[in-house]
Amino acid sequence: MSLLFHEMVFGPVKSRRLGVSLGINLLPSSYKYCSFDCIYCECGWGRRSHKDNEALPSREAVIAALESRLAELSASRHFPDAITFAGNGEPTIHPGFARIIEDTRRLRDQYMPETAIGVLSNASMLHKPEVMDALRSIELNMLKLDAGTEETFRRINQPPSRLTLEILLDQMKQMEGNLIIQSIFLRGEYQEKRIDNTSDAEVEAWIRCVKEVNPQYAMIYSIDRSTPVDTLEKVGFDELLGIAARAEAQGVRVKVYG
Ligand code: SF4
Repeated sequence: MSLLFHEMVFGPVKSRRLGVSLGINLLPSSYKYCSFDCIYCECGWGRRSHKDNEALPSREAVIAALESRLAELSASRHFPDAITFAGNGEPTIHPGFARIIEDTRRLRDQYMPETAIGVLSNASMLHKPEVMDALRSIELNMLKLDAGTEETFRRINQPPSRLTLEILLDQMKQMEGNLIIQSIFLRGEYQEKRIDNTSDAEVEAWIRCVKEVNPQYAMIYSIDRSTPVDTLEKVGFDELLGIAARAEAQGVRVKVYG
């Protein structure tokens, strides 16, 4: 079963990584729209066609909904830890993303200056300077890196053909450390191929990549809800702690979420 968000502004919800978070969905409400099609995506399988831009909410509608919710929360003295762009796909695909971030910063400063702004992104749009600049301007710039080898990256995330792991890492390096890496660990089978980013070789390759990118820290976790590929296996908390210990021994700061 897929989990889709039906509102532009939702919550606040309790999030295992972000505390109390007010969510913003810039994508369509009835299906996932993303540049990746990750085998573990909680939104299920999605669409990538650019024609679907027509179904995206306007900047004005998003900002009006956000202002109304922030005003309500502020009046009742309920201040979330974060305002987070997540939802039914990749938020940076929205053509108005950079200006929406600008508006969100203005509203946050007005209604709840202590609240962080976060984006959960797959980093596929970092080639656009305005997306790069918008992500640099927020407190929680959380970019996905689920694999340290090209083969596993393609199997887990199913990115567009133009986007290799090398390009992705080069773009992440341009953030000059102003980012947080988010990585899922899992095992399973898809299209008769074994997928496992927890093997020694895969974990070492992932650590090398994270070190190259030099983030503030890496968030690691495993599957939490149902996934479109039903053979995927959740990696236990102790095993995640083991991966974190290996990374920390090589100078990478890691936070583990069970
Ligand atoms: S990048 Fe995120 S939204 Fe897109 S397919 Fe992967 S998990 Fe789903």
